[in-house]
Amino acid sequence: MTAFQGKIQPIALSSSVQLALGKHLLSCTPQEACGVLLGAAAAGGMRINDYMPMRNVAPDPLHAFVPDPQEWVKALYLDPAPIGLFHSHPHSSPWPSTADIQGLPSLGAEFKVYLIGSPGSNGKEPPRLNGFYIDRQPGADGNPNHRLLHAPLYGLLR
Ligand SMILES: [Zn+2]
Repeated sequence: MTAFQGKIQPIALSSSVQLALGKHLLSCTPQEACGVLLGAAAAGGMRINDYMPMRNVAPDPLHAFVPDPQEWVKALYLDPAPIGLFHSHPHSSPWPSTADIQGLPSLGAEFKVYLIGSPGSNGKEPPRLNGFYIDRQPGADGNPNHRLLHAPLYGLLR
């Protein structure tokens, strides 16, 4: 069972955020893009209002992402704090990798939303985006088990 009683609420994105995610993703390709999402819980789901792109300082940025530590720490002190993480899969579809799942425990509980983007096929289609909720259930050992629950995304005209 999930916190949403089996029904996963949508994640809403303003059109400016959608554009910003797509732009950052494409400008970083073939490297992975990453950044944090700002927003709030709203009636009927989470709402993303802003995107803060970050430098990817991973040793292998073609296949991994590590947000610039200085930018990361700065973002965590924002009020309100970021509610989500975005990164791109320049070479594969926007579904969580094993490494993505393994990285979830490093995110604080304020991170509730997880977005992954991929370039559109043949470079002409618009970027593809998948949204997930970070689900934390108490595990047998006392540490939470982390999962990503696929959520419907919808755009807001604004
Ligand atoms: Zn990934």
